[in-house]
Amino acid sequence: MRFVVVGGGVAGVCCAEELCRLRPQDEVTLVSASRVLKGVSVVARLSRNLEELALVERRLDELPYSNLRLVQDVAAGIDTEGQALLLGGGGRLPYDKLCICAGARPKELPPSVFHASGEQPAGGVPTQQAPQAQQADRDAELAALRQRVLTIRDTDSVARLAARLRRSRRVVVVGNGGIALELISGLKGADVTWVMKHAHIGDAYFDLDAAQFLLEELQHQRRVAAAAAAAAADGGLRVNRQMQSSDPAIYAAGDSASCQWAADESRHWFQMRLWSQARAMGVYAAHCMAGVQDQTGSDMAFELFTHVTRFLGKKVVLLGLYNGQRLGGEAEQDVVTYSRIDEEPEGRSFVRVLLLRGRVQGAVLIGETDLDETLENLIMDQLDVGSYGPHLLDPDVELDHVFD
Ligand SMILES: Cc1cc2nc3c(=O)[nH]c(=O)nc-3n(C[C@H](O)[C@H](O)[C@H](O)COP(=O)(O)OP(=O)(O)OC[C@H]3O[C@@H](n4cnc5c(N)ncnc54)[C@H](O)[C@@H]3O)c2cc1C
Repeated sequence: MRFVVVGGGVAGVCCAEELCRLRPQDEVTLVSASRVLKGVSVVARLSRNLEELALVERRLDELPYSNLRLVQDVAAGIDTEGQALLLGGGGRLPYDKLCICAGARPKELPPSVFHASGEQPAGGVPTQQAPQAQQADRDAELAALRQRVLTIRDTDSVARLAARLRRSRRVVVVGNGGIALELISGLKGADVTWVMKHAHIGDAYFDLDAAQFLLEELQHQRRVAAAAAAAAADGGLRVNRQMQSSDPAIYAAGDSASCQWAADESRHWFQMRLWSQARAMGVYAAHCMAGVQDQTGSDMAFELFTHVTRFLGKKVVLLGLYNGQRLGGEAEQDVVTYSRIDEEPEGRSFVRVLLLRGRVQGAVLIGETDLDETLENLIMDQLDVGSYGPHLLDPDVELDHVFD
């Protein structure tokens, strides 16, 4: 069997390594544009499902598999009938099973949003026809404007941004995900405007209460202005519960996969483009490609959404359907949230739980709360704790006793 994996990021490396381990007699080819590969290391294990991860760079010669071959090239196309990957350098790589782990691209601002001075926005009526010389000036102005817009995706693009920030007095950050949140908290010394389409910060992670808690933390450090803007769609390769695309010989994992699975296929899990998910998908795709997924139980990684990160220096743990993801169709009175803020000498902490008909579906924990594992178990076990009402989060309530 010939396995080919495209992409030297977390998903691709995990997928290729797992295939080498599972199928030492088969050839595994990893196609990567760069010799420097990415992986993750576990910084801290907080519970059965919760791990704090860090991104690490790995060299090909660190991967100890004799059946692994690295092709340093760009995948330029796929001949699906002939089952071959077409390489930018002109070669063809035949495969029996192919996994696409080519990551994602940042959403760039479309050319139509750039306007030279005195120009009408798209759809407006120009007041006069610009003469050729004036047009050339405008083209130059537009090109200069476009150069001022940077997107970040990888180490190189972050280095470019850091170099430009050293010379910048005013910075506009567009977007409201985890990257924007981290960038804003790290920007020092510049006048920052934060542009988002949502009513509160960190909409992808937090509801209004948690966002308010973090915004207060942030406002200690800087003043932030918010305004309104637009967004775009997913664009990934749609895969089924076995990471297979509509072509059964082609799989996808990591950021390039789009997992729009039904709720009964992954009850408390949903896709968010993260290192942990890239790793889990890479490994699971390898198991599916090798046909061993039923024996390994690696699809357990898709039962509960977990993410551990740090915002504003505080540990943030996100569990399950913490923001009511997928619960939009439930009756309003069946969904309740309880939250608590603790002021401890070592810092403030915040907990919010979300319950559906008395059963915990998700939680947000900010700071040191000591509740990670208990809430994880409550979500996995789906015990009815509705009788506690808002007292569920009282410090005096011994939640561990619920399991006895
Ligand atoms: C600025 C930034 C900060 C982030 N911070 C965090 C964080 O703190 N925590 C977290 O969990 N997640 C974070 N993420 C998200 C995380 O980086 C991604 O979810 C994860 O890296 C996805 O892994 P992947 O292997 O799917 O894709 P990638 O890591 O993007 O790897 C894709 C690889 O494929 C290669 N490739 C692409 N096209 C081709 C081609 N045609 N031929 C050959 N190779 C190709 C690329 O060069 C790249 O090496 C962050 C993302 C960004 C952009």
